[in-house]
Amino acid sequence: MLRIYNTQTRRKEEFEPLQEGLVTLYACGPTVYDFPHIGNLRTFLFSDLLARCLKRRGFEVHNVMNVTDVDDKTINGANREGVTLGEYTAKYAEYFMEDLEKLRIQPAWRYPRATEHIEQMLEVVEGLVEKGHAYELDGSIYFDISSYPKYGKLSGIVPEEQETRDFGRLDRDEYELEDARDFVLWKAAKPGEPSWDSPWGPGRPGWHIECTAMSIEYLGETVDMHMGGVDLIFPHHENEIAQSEAYTGQQFVRYWLHPEHLIVEGEKMSKSKGNFFTLRDLEEKGYDPIAVRHLLMTAHYRRQLNFTIEGLEQSRQALTRLWDFADRLAEVPGGAEGEDLAAQIETARTKFDAEIDDDLNIPGAMAAVFELVREVNPLLAEARVSKAGAENVLAFLHEADEVLGIIAHDKGSVDEEIEALMAEREQARAEKNWARADEIRDELLAQGIVIEDTPTGPRWRRE
Ligand code: AMP
Ligand code: ZN
Repeated sequence: MLRIYNTQTRRKEEFEPLQEGLVTLYACGPTVYDFPHIGNLRTFLFSDLLARCLKRRGFEVHNVMNVTDVDDKTINGANREGVTLGEYTAKYAEYFMEDLEKLRIQPAWRYPRATEHIEQMLEVVEGLVEKGHAYELDGSIYFDISSYPKYGKLSGIVPEEQETRDFGRLDRDEYELEDARDFVLWKAAKPGEPSWDSPWGPGRPGWHIECTAMSIEYLGETVDMHMGGVDLIFPHHENEIAQSEAYTGQQFVRYWLHPEHLIVEGEKMSKSKGNFFTLRDLEEKGYDPIAVRHLLMTAHYRRQLNFTIEGLEQSRQALTRLWDFADRLAEVPGGAEGEDLAAQIETARTKFDAEIDDDLNIPGAMAAVFELVREVNPLLAEARVSKAGAENVLAFLHEADEVLGIIAHDKGSVDEEIEALMAEREQARAEKNWARADEIRDELLAQGIVIEDTPTGPRWRRE
């Protein structure tokens, strides 16, 4: 039974979807105004891991990730570059999708864009005005938080004050806890900004309303899960709950999940602090995006993860071990006799699933796989694994990779020159010309090819 930590109740709960066999999941997606940094990507990767774990647990998953393509940042960016908002955001949306693919993040079920759902947002805003939860001021519409007594139940801001306090208003989309005020649902048009017609004149949506409108549109009034980085608990998710529940009269979200931040030297990785890396930055330094994926999976999602290049280096080494292990298994010759490893695999599988069930403990699940690697490696080195055993372990790795997404790899092939050198080395060894054999080994190493002699003959791998 899968247990997950629910931010709303502040405890681990057994997970059961509303509808048997189907999970509805909404993840707050990117604002497409720039390249995402790997902190953002940690959060998006978590939504992938969550969906993969749910699938492993037998659920069908309808996961939606919105793309914010209209807000202050995107509008400013388009104006700065002198292009339309659509041209500007299309470029960054594409970069975003490329990063997801490089990180092996499986496509969400739907990626709705804010600008394509203005009508649905207006419908919710109009409904809120009609029900007395929102009011107009100079062509903008604000949510009246004093009209919603449960405001603050997710983040824990003090609700008692609501009856007595005049909250004032905020036009900004992002603000701090101290600024809990009536938030903007619809903003009156300003010169130089794109706008859409509304009953209150031209304007554009605020940020929060898009998630409510698109969540209802694709997943219904109540969703099983909703997630986003911890910084979204307030105000974004608090505001989403207020406007959604005031509008529908139904519970908006059953389980709230909030992965913690990626940090750098104690501070949140962020654009504004300048302490960030994009995936491209790390690729330019020679790192495989899968090493980045691995690194981002090394801490439980509810813990902060400190980013360092040394950590990334360790991830690269861990992957090398894992890939090398898989290659060795694939190279066990047909007819090889030895252990079938059924018991070891069963132990690994049981631990793997128990870790997932315990609030999606991905580092624990990875550890189960690496323990199996440690156990089987010495047996492989001594040629004590049967062909069937090797195939069993490979099948388990494949299964685990449906969740982890780090094991599949392409060993590639070597060119003719390298093949010729390897053959020459074999010849030298047959003639007991150890000096020449060692010389060739060094030559190959200089070209990034590591040669190892095993009981079943020499094998190569890339350094
Ligand atoms: P944005 O594109 O700025 O709206 O952010 C997209 C997502 O990235 C949100 O869910 C944020 O909570 C998340 N996020 C921002 N900074 C970090 C960070 N340093 N570590 C993890 N997630 C982050
Ligand atoms: Zn959202």
